Amino acid sequence: MLLIYCPYCQEERSELEFRGAGDAHIARPTNIAEISDEQFEEFFFLRDNPKGLIFERWRHQHGCGRFFNAARDTISDKFIMTYKAGEPKPDIGAAAAPHAPVETYEQLEGEAK
Ligand SMILES: [Zn+2]
Repeated sequence: MLLIYCPYCQEERSELEFRGAGDAHIARPTNIAEISDEQFEEFFFLRDNPKGLIFERWRHQHGCGRFFNAARDTISDKFIMTYKAGEPKPDIGAAAAPHAPVETYEQLEGEAK
């Protein structure tokens, strides 16, 4: 079972108590009534969905109920760290992502021969 550290409760709890809430650090435009439909689409709908390090909002829904942010590795599904909402995005280098290099299909196929 995956354990997630809640920065408000200051303890690890079961993943069943949490719910993902999308990307973290999405800046709302200050002039939202003046932006074009394309700019609004990009702000409201479009997300990068990168492979590897990602910053997300999470909610401790069946605990304290508060939102917080997490740095997570999408390859290993490991939480690198969590931090309170409103805190700045932490500077995490690629070396912090605790996963092994990804083998390509061709590499795996070559090993099977
Ligand atoms: Zn909590």
